[in-house]
Amino acid sequence: MRAPSDADARRAAPPVLVYPDGSLAPPPMDLYARAAAMAEPVAEAIVPPRDAAAIEVPAGSILRLGCPEGPQVGDLNIFAKHDLTERFYSGKTRALHGTHVTTGDRLWSAFPHLRPMATVIADSLGWYGIDADGASVHDVIGTRCDPYTHHLLSGEDYDRCCHSNLTRALAAHEGLPLAEAERHVHDVLNVFMCTGFSRDTGRYFMKASPVRAGDHLDLFAEIDLLAVMSACPGGDCGAEHSSDRAACHPLSMTVLRPEPGALEGWVPPARNGYAGGHGG
Ligand SMILES: [Zn+2]
Repeated sequence: MRAPSDADARRAAPPVLVYPDGSLAPPPMDLYARAAAMAEPVAEAIVPPRDAAAIEVPAGSILRLGCPEGPQVGDLNIFAKHDLTERFYSGKTRALHGTHVTTGDRLWSAFPHLRPMATVIADSLGWYGIDADGASVHDVIGTRCDPYTHHLLSGEDYDRCCHSNLTRALAAHEGLPLAEAERHVHDVLNVFMCTGFSRDTGRYFMKASPVRAGDHLDLFAEIDLLAVMSACPGGDCGAEHSSDRAACHPLSMTVLRPEPGALEGWVPPARNGYAGGHGG
């Protein structure tokens, strides 16, 4: 296709950050740090390889997502504990914070709620930054491996994709039929996953996660949460997913409760204030 004569001038328009730094009220990181310093573990769920587990996280607690044994990626769904329709909104989180999240970023809930569900307060992989391939860790750009795309591409059925693992774990926790639970499964936070877009073609890529045993990502629960996480069949996602071929390891979800009084003055965020008229 022939480009217009002023193509270079059009391309030279300066990028403008849609939501520049300072758009959002800063989270009270000092308060979270004080709370985390005196927090004790009160509950834990182990996520078996190629499976998922669920855990409830009371508001004001810390959810530590851990890699206890070997390199492993996790696909995380979070819900408001009392209302499954308030769920994590990866697209808006991406728009507000960027393609990958780390300490200080928040995980936002879907419309009409749009409030912080959790805040990242510690990330042992925060040193990774953005590498020479443009990749980083903990992305909100991938969706989750799923049996539909796998069937589309291969013609085969595989039942241990993250989408199915999340469906089974949510169904078991909520006492729902699989088909009903599946409707609540949503685009994930790809915990420990290392991803980016290729510079030349803009294609989504993954590479072996830098996560090692002992690494963790800590989330402060802003509201009462139900967290469900799958240990991806792709393992460290360095080669492939949606199969039983990769080496897989367990993940852990630990709830840490701050000491009484550590959150003095903190209140959970209210639902979004938009009146909901939509001009109608
Ligand atoms: Zn997966």
